[in-house]
Amino acid sequence: MSAPRPPERPTRIAPAPGSDPVRLPPVRRPGPPPGVPPRPGPGGPPPRRGTPGPGGPVRGGDLTDELINTDFWTDQMVESAGIPIVDVPFVTVGSGIGSFVTVDYLRISGVPIDRIAILGPQDVPWHSYEYLTRVSQIPRTERLRSDSASTPDNIWGFPSYAVREAWREKKLGPLWNVLVEPEFANFYTPKAGHAFESMERECQRIGYLQSLHRGQVRMIRRRAAGGYFTILTPTPGSAPTKRVAFRSQWVHVAIGYPGIKLLPDLQAFREKYRDASKVVNAYEPHEHIYQSLQRKPGTVMIRGAGIVASRVLQRLIDDRDRLGLQTQIVHLFRTYVDKSHGPHIFMRRKGKDGWAYQGFNYPKSVWGGQLKERMRKLEGHERAAAYKEMGGTNTPVRDNWQEQLRRGRAEGWYQVAVGKAESLVPAPGGQGVMTTVRVDPHAPIAQTPRPDGTFELFADYVIDCTGLEADVREHRLLADLLDHTGAGLNPVGRMDVERDFELRGTRSGGGKIYASGSATLGGYFPGVDTFLGLQIAAQEIADDLVRQGFCKKLGPMRSFRQWWRWVNHKGVD
Ligand SMILES: Cc1cc2nc3c(=O)[nH]c(=O)nc-3n(C[C@H](O)[C@H](O)[C@H](O)COP(=O)(O)OP(=O)(O)OC[C@H]3O[C@@H](n4cnc5c(N)ncnc54)[C@H](O)[C@@H]3O)c2cc1C
Repeated sequence: MSAPRPPERPTRIAPAPGSDPVRLPPVRRPGPPPGVPPRPGPGGPPPRRGTPGPGGPVRGGDLTDELINTDFWTDQMVESAGIPIVDVPFVTVGSGIGSFVTVDYLRISGVPIDRIAILGPQDVPWHSYEYLTRVSQIPRTERLRSDSASTPDNIWGFPSYAVREAWREKKLGPLWNVLVEPEFANFYTPKAGHAFESMERECQRIGYLQSLHRGQVRMIRRRAAGGYFTILTPTPGSAPTKRVAFRSQWVHVAIGYPGIKLLPDLQAFREKYRDASKVVNAYEPHEHIYQSLQRKPGTVMIRGAGIVASRVLQRLIDDRDRLGLQTQIVHLFRTYVDKSHGPHIFMRRKGKDGWAYQGFNYPKSVWGGQLKERMRKLEGHERAAAYKEMGGTNTPVRDNWQEQLRRGRAEGWYQVAVGKAESLVPAPGGQGVMTTVRVDPHAPIAQTPRPDGTFELFADYVIDCTGLEADVREHRLLADLLDHTGAGLNPVGRMDVERDFELRGTRSGGGKIYASGSATLGGYFPGVDTFLGLQIAAQEIADDLVRQGFCKKLGPMRSFRQWWRWVNHKGVD
């Protein structure tokens, strides 16, 4: 199981003039304490190897057994290994949208760009996200799931996407939509391309790329004298050594999803029959399936009932309608929802035809209402139970999806089954696959299983739309944080963070590690893996850094001034 890997560069934006996104700042040796580093200027000398310390001769700039096995590192240990050291007060790991919104907050709160280092593989912060949305059938022209005010390019949320779309396209429709939603219209959501373009603009405004150091972070270890060493494996050819150590007082970790999680029978099929073309996860490239259906009619089995399943179904049916295809669809539900459900009258979710319907992945009040307040107070199993109560797979109601599935049911080319897939084998003759399903006897639809309670379903292709979630331990960096840096797990088994997103147990002298995004789901703030949630986390982190004297307080005057600069596309000051 591995983290989803986006292909190279879907989009490029030019770095700010005079900047060099991949050049490392000068190496300082011996370094000042984290938090008060000298400011390295862009274009300084290239990194040099550490000199031999009393501990031993210079080695190859790579991790040594001593470093790997030691939880607290001295400066001398790193220098002795020949790993160049870069001093910078704040490091953010990931280089995705979580890193971007955090850097945005800090820049707007007055932190100079050279006091931040962004470490990660992405050339632009939305690269990985755009890859995942594109393969799961949300190209730039399609709409995302979050609302009009979830604007990762704009910490104020105003003007929202709907206002900007109305202005740009000289149409009142988006404004009317947000006025009457959700009663008289489906929730407004922005087009993916709009979100990427607006992030690109903000990236340029805040000079984001000047602090970007591309590569993979191998580990974050506590520094004996306080703060941390973050070990980057730079992209090949961009640094003279295999590793570079960033010595900082603060580290922020936002590394997205640990990996793709294939359902067990699909994983077993792939391993046994070495065939990854008929059985795919929706987050893997699977355009070949849509292409093949254009050449030859076929049957596709969809597994899952979330937004990705909705989008994949839409793509199959759009192609069917547009190109006159004969595609048959079998939709296997694990749980079939046929009515409104929930623990009590104030916590009910609509449901029909198998699907649980909800505008966003959580009730809206987790981002700023009573649920946010309530979750902040819950601990242990109470919090885990609350997550279970409001979580679960769901999808938004969209009129076009409803119409397509209604037609599919009426015309017989969209069929559903409810149960648990037990095994998957190649179909006789080698064409397609056969799934053995243990039928759910309580499902509110008629099904006719064999005497042993199962039936078989044939499909040419299976598209697993059940998710990206994987065990945090499967991510090497997170496993290292758990094993060597004092981090622990929260009640739902992800990385345990405080209310201000400090990674609990990892404090090192005056230093702190913060974490946000999907790896921290299960914490005091459920909406953390969303644009707005990542911004709320960034705000909490920035507030904590204000208390520690790293950045300026974003009071009303500063906030208004900075917003005005945002409106006029002027850099931060
Ligand atoms: C298909 C899809 C659609 C979504 N749609 C929405 C939506 O409409 N609205 C919304 O609000 N939210 C949405 N989300 C949720 C969330 O906002 C996004 O996933 C967002 O990209 C999360 O940002 P992130 O920084 O945590 O992760 P990412 O943007 O994925 O960035 C994490 C980065 O960390 C890198 N990384 C991993 N390991 C390391 C390492 N060891 N060293 C350095 N870097 C590393 C990864 O390669 C990746 O590039 C969606 C998520 C998915 C998957």
